[in-house]
Amino acid sequence: MAAILDIRDLVVHYSSDRETVRAVNGLSLSLERGKVLGLVGETGAGKTTTALSVLDMVQEPQGKIVSGTILFEGRDIRALRPEEMREVRGKEIAMIFQDPMTALNPLITVGEQIAETVRRHEGLPREDSERRAGEMLELVGIPASRSRDYPHQFSGGMKQRVVIAIALACNPKLLLADEPTTALDVTIQAQVLEMMSELIKKFGTSVVMITHDLGIVAENCDHVATMYAGEVVEYGTVDQVFGDPRHPYTIGLFGSLPNLDEESDRLTPIPGLMPDPTDLPAGCFFSPRCPRATERCQAERPSDSEEGGHRVKCHLFGGGKEEGR
Ligand code: SF4
Repeated sequence: MAAILDIRDLVVHYSSDRETVRAVNGLSLSLERGKVLGLVGETGAGKTTTALSVLDMVQEPQGKIVSGTILFEGRDIRALRPEEMREVRGKEIAMIFQDPMTALNPLITVGEQIAETVRRHEGLPREDSERRAGEMLELVGIPASRSRDYPHQFSGGMKQRVVIAIALACNPKLLLADEPTTALDVTIQAQVLEMMSELIKKFGTSVVMITHDLGIVAENCDHVATMYAGEVVEYGTVDQVFGDPRHPYTIGLFGSLPNLDEESDRLTPIPGLMPDPTDLPAGCFFSPRCPRATERCQAERPSDSEEGGHRVKCHLFGGGKEEGR
């Protein structure tokens, strides 16, 4: 199936006079049309920077896409003129941010915030855009009669529903959802995710779901990419990665989850911290924390091995099979 999004060898840095933060380091991934890709990893793995790169929203002059290609429906995002990119942003590719309060304008009614997006991107007259705003609110489970209310009159979960309504109002082809439910409490999280997943199916939207929650990936995604220090270290279908996790970091992420089927007093967290992005280790970036690291790992950066679409960046795997398996 054709990829709607294809990122190759993306490198993104943030620089100051004193240092360079290597946020994304040769990341490659693709997303098939109509599918949901989960992007997982700890804070600082480069997940949000990757999404901002797709929208050409990496903040210059400190932030810079140093190299790589980002193809959206075969078009090179990096080659678009600013006015062309403004058309793509919000209409063809939309983003949902983690905190609804930063995404909503507290001084404008929620209905007007949705209507304004529709007017800007689709050129609908005021009356039609207001009607669309009411329909979108109903779709996310909020009565259209509340379109004249302001953000502060809504709970956290309702505000995030409004943000989702804004993101989907122009029926984007690609949705980048950055930890869309992290700021919500657990029961509201489940409701919002269920609603999102129904709307994604209804509209046939392709989605990159950024999360640190493997449970959300298991329930909502088709494919999963594990990110570590600005690289994708494992990629595959949810069945491949959850059924047979291969990269020691992915295995570590699973080990740090509670297992309800087994009695255990303790979780097994991954020892150590994500490396300093201004001073990444030589060799494999995971080597200082990896229980299986060898001398080779400390000296040589691993490349991708692939078997049946299941990709792993680790010296233990050559030709897709674990050495010695
Ligand atoms: Fe661990 Fe070496 Fe594989 Fe890196 S390359 S994940 S250090 S075994």
